[in-house]
Amino acid sequence: MNTSYQLFIDGVWREGSDGTKVPVIDPATEEAFAEVSWGTPEDANLALAAAEKAFAEGGEWSTWSPTRRGRFLFAVAALVRQNIAELSALFSREHGKPPHQASGELEDAARYLEYFGGWADKLTGMTIDLGRGQMDYVLREPLGVTVHIAPWNYPLDIFCRSIAPALAAGNTCVVKPSREISVVTLALARLFQEAGLPAGVLNIIPGSGSVLGKVLTEDPRVRGIIFTGSVATGRTVLQAAARNITPVVSMELGGKAPSLVFVKDATELDGPVGGAVGALAWNAGQSCGQRARWYVRRDLYEPFLERLAPRVRNLKVGPATQPGVDLGPLVSKKHYDNVMNYIRIGIEEGARLIAGGGRPEGLGEKGYFVAPTVFADCHNGMRIVREEIFGPVITVIPVDSLDEAVDLANDNMFGLSSEIWTSDVTTAHSVASRLDVGHVTINGSAAFGFEVPFGGVKLSGLGREGGPEAILAYTRLKNVWVNLSRK
Ligand code: NDP
Repeated sequence: MNTSYQLFIDGVWREGSDGTKVPVIDPATEEAFAEVSWGTPEDANLALAAAEKAFAEGGEWSTWSPTRRGRFLFAVAALVRQNIAELSALFSREHGKPPHQASGELEDAARYLEYFGGWADKLTGMTIDLGRGQMDYVLREPLGVTVHIAPWNYPLDIFCRSIAPALAAGNTCVVKPSREISVVTLALARLFQEAGLPAGVLNIIPGSGSVLGKVLTEDPRVRGIIFTGSVATGRTVLQAAARNITPVVSMELGGKAPSLVFVKDATELDGPVGGAVGALAWNAGQSCGQRARWYVRRDLYEPFLERLAPRVRNLKVGPATQPGVDLGPLVSKKHYDNVMNYIRIGIEEGARLIAGGGRPEGLGEKGYFVAPTVFADCHNGMRIVREEIFGPVITVIPVDSLDEAVDLANDNMFGLSSEIWTSDVTTAHSVASRLDVGHVTINGSAAFGFEVPFGGVKLSGLGREGGPEAILAYTRLKNVWVNLSRK
């Protein structure tokens, strides 16, 4: 173990106040390759005080014009690209993502910085005509100190998608990365420092969510909370926010996305089969938007499975250091056990195993590797269909009609993403309007953009990240009325 990472508070890298250090585990080898200092409530208080001081009138940050804030975010994006090889190697090691996925996420992080950097000098207030003798105008102001609590699955993407609009709008930030993945976030934060961010504007404290999260979400100095993670933690954060009626800018929670396969005939199955392979391989299925429930029209059902099975078996699972790997290990032992347990549940529930179903062969006993797994003959009553597994496992369900598919797709507590495969334009748009979700894709799974709003309904959360509405949520309105007739 040769590298040690520290907290970043008030522009200074420091140990946690009680000296606790935690090993950073490579999920492919289960060996520690670094250590990271963990923050305490005292450190969380220091970070909030630093962010409050940095936000205050008269501090350096308050003198930065919107243009300067925007240019700064562009400068950090350029540094991310300059350092992409080194950062993505560290990212792959800490997370297990294959290199092309790690560098792809860094590119996404850079794009968030640029997209919201471009918005910094375009935020405006307005005037309201109340008639003669009066003037009314509306100021658009930053919220103040914002707290960002992140998960481990897309740690850099999610870090930049919330701190970029927060900083562009003039806020200051305290970030609590996931205990599973924090050192790559700290490495990225160095680039903000290198680009000249004033002390206290961005603070990062790794550590326990239940300890630090409580302090950060209950503190009256906090004027905005941005949370991405599980539904259970989301509920706790909402309750904490209720204490001071702290605005919750966004809650991006779980998902169990349906994909409806209604192509003309079996000759058009390449697209959906490729989509299902991607749902297993990309980030090893550890995605909130993973297409996890496949509702396939009955005449297409067996041809879909016949084409899918060999492609899934051909996916290469292994450490990110091996060339050509499609799926790395899962992020942690805890998560590996959880996903393996769901595979056992699927078998017990009577689903038909088409591919995978446990540890891949030939990888030994070390590393949190799971073979990409396809369960067929599923139904909506099964836990593997209802609950978020968050790993390389998908379920396939035959349906007799589009109405049945839409009903089954909507019959879930989550409402984040969804997808329809069809060459019929009327079917595509009518299904898009009937799905009870925040995000629909037609004939493909992309479009998690910087420019488009992303977020869910039902238990998938509230608020939107990405797009113009997202940056507005990092501001507040203040109305000013003037009596012009007073002598
Ligand atoms: P968790 O809810 O377990 O953790 C998320 C973050 O919350 C972590 O930093 C965690 O800290 C912290 N936390 C834990 N307890 C508290 C608390 N009491 N108060 C405040 N913060 C706390 O989620 P995961 O990290 O396991 O992420 C997976 C989940 O995130 C999945 O459900 C996934 O669907 C969802 N997600 C949603 C996305 C979206 O855009 N909709 C995107 C990505 C993920 P600690 O490090 O200690 O665990």
